[in-house]
Amino acid sequence: MEKLLVSACLMGLYCRYDGKSNYLESIKALQKRYILLYICPECEGGLSTPRLPSEIKDGKVINSKNFDNTEYFIKGAKHALEIAKKYGIKKALLKAKSPSCGKGKVYDGTFTHTLVDGNGITASLLLDNGIEVFTEDELEELIYEE
Ligand code: SF4
Repeated sequence: MEKLLVSACLMGLYCRYDGKSNYLESIKALQKRYILLYICPECEGGLSTPRLPSEIKDGKVINSKNFDNTEYFIKGAKHALEIAKKYGIKKALLKAKSPSCGKGKVYDGTFTHTLVDGNGITASLLLDNGIEVFTEDELEELIYEE
């Protein structure tokens, strides 16, 4: 079976900034099609849970107290890429809108729930390295594609 890299919070791990998960019921359907390998890039980068929320602003990742967390996000992204390369992973299912995992839209750095075009740090690095990234809003493509 093909391998799929998945955001750990979608698998049900309580690794979100607020200590909650984003468990996705459809994970069960995905398990019939893929071998799932999960990662939380923010945790792998060295951030603890719970933690203050972070958003991307002017190319940096800052938390809600204006602390620059960029290095942690980059470290986590590199770790995700290492795993993808090590296991020959070509596709990833990542959590939408996250400053690490989001694809297409992320919050704008004002902490006002405002979305802008862009990718999270991990999604961006995976995409740059030829890995197809899907969010939970694009699940059908992953479950039903030939
Ligand atoms: Fe989920 Fe990714 Fe945020 Fe970790 S970094 S909690 S996997 S969205």
